[in-house]
Amino acid sequence: MAKKDYYEILGIPRNATKEEIKKAYRKQALKYHPDKNPGNKDAEEKFKEAAEAYEVLSDDEKRRVYDQYGHDGLSGSGFGFRGGGMTVEDIFASFGDIFEDAFAGFGGFGSSRRTRRVNKGTNLRVKVKLTLQEIANGAEKKIKVRKYISCPACGGTGAADSRSYTDCPTCRGTGHVTRITTTFLGQMQTTTVCPTCGGEGKVITHKCSSCYGEGIIEKDEIISINIPAGVAKGMQLTLSGKGNAARRGGIPGDLLVIIDEESHPELIREGNDLIYNLFISIPDAIMGGSAEIPTVDGQVKIKIEPGTQPGKILRLRGKGLPEVNGYGRGDLLVNVNVWIPKSLSREDMKLIEKLKESDSFTPRPDKDDRGFFERMRSYFK
Ligand SMILES: [Zn+2]
Ligand SMILES: [Zn+2]
Repeated sequence: MAKKDYYEILGIPRNATKEEIKKAYRKQALKYHPDKNPGNKDAEEKFKEAAEAYEVLSDDEKRRVYDQYGHDGLSGSGFGFRGGGMTVEDIFASFGDIFEDAFAGFGGFGSSRRTRRVNKGTNLRVKVKLTLQEIANGAEKKIKVRKYISCPACGGTGAADSRSYTDCPTCRGTGHVTRITTTFLGQMQTTTVCPTCGGEGKVITHKCSSCYGEGIIEKDEIISINIPAGVAKGMQLTLSGKGNAARRGGIPGDLLVIIDEESHPELIREGNDLIYNLFISIPDAIMGGSAEIPTVDGQVKIKIEPGTQPGKILRLRGKGLPEVNGYGRGDLLVNVNVWIPKSLSREDMKLIEKLKESDSFTPRPDKDDRGFFERMRSYFK
């Protein structure tokens, strides 16, 4: 089934501002809220759909990818995207704050809902250093991170066993507490999540001895990260749910991967183009010859035309780096220099003395070559 357009779901134009997106989402979420449509599967679907659209469009990076490549771009490499996998509980945990002031206007409507307070794990940040070869081809990196994982001894519950629970004394097992306050409008009844048990209705009597009741333990974990070709220093990839586990069975945080580059001994990166500074000998410049050029896929041989002047730039098309979106590739620019010897043998000296008298060694620059001026001008931009 083809997925619906996110802008259509929220009923907004493609150039909608963040404020407009938030407003549109809130309107949809209120309309299809599970409390207003009990047992209505269609409304629940629409509620989830709107949350998914909001998750993407409210995030600048995800929105940019979606605008450019649509749904496929989000499910593609790098952006671990939760997509339609969200439950109603997840939605309240992620976007709950959006409802708060909205429901205030309904005189406490919605707060009677027995929503569990869901813990969220913290995000983890790692830096990954890549060589130019890895950037050119994409790479699978395995990295060791120290992170909180769900406690294996108790399955993340924090309890020693299934008998280690008792009804919460504060809410007597209901998970919520009701308070009656007197306002100028009369008596108002407000119901909130129980502060003692966080809405669970139960408290633990015997804590798990491995995690001391936290439900998480710290452990080294090897995480495999697929890095798409064409990334650059400073870019950030988000792997949803690969961060720290949350206390007692909540939603894990994200793993943020920050890209760093290892400098190449011979090639310089400029956007998606690469630059190589080549030195050829005086005889090769005069008579022509060949030269070996390093590229990200190994050495290539190029031809040197007779009469090649220093400062000439050769463009090897498509020998640069791929665009991160997979379309197109940069070039490899070879800056040709002619090597001038810094010391000579007595014999060579005699040869050069002879060349000094030769007419063909008198400089005769091509007056119509505007390339030089263009190049110079580009330095001063
Ligand atoms: Zn445990
Ligand atoms: Zn309680």
